[in-house]
Amino acid sequence: MADKTLFQKICDKEIPASMVHEDDVCVAFRDISPQAPVHILIVPRKPIPRIAAATAEDAATLGHLLLTAGEIARSEGIADTGFRVAINNGPHGGETVPHLHVHLLGGRPLQWPPG
Ligand code: 5GP
Repeated sequence: MADKTLFQKICDKEIPASMVHEDDVCVAFRDISPQAPVHILIVPRKPIPRIAAATAEDAATLGHLLLTAGEIARSEGIADTGFRVAINNGPHGGETVPHLHVHLLGGRPLQWPPG
């Protein structure tokens, strides 16, 4: 079996993280290097490497990640002021951890377009 990804180890509590949400499909924890006052990563337990590697069988998981982002935005108090969800894919997208994750960023005005 392939080695566990960093985020699988966090899902399995082998590496500590500041958890904000856990369910059967995903976990969410605070980014170790936050780029905004709220910066949370929402990670499927299934180690889908990146969005470009997802398949039709992952549709429910992908939907669940976005619904969870909205739920966490509400619980973090940033739903009304606004927030961003981002998924980095591949070298040009800025992906550094090859395990799909949704960034939830908020708590300050965010620039557009990103760098
Ligand atoms: P990517 O660049 O792949 O879209 O995002 C990876 C994110 O994971 C980065 O924002 C980085 O700060 C975060 N990260 C990397 N290693 C760890 C870790 O061990 N713990 C936590 N909580 N976040 C991490």
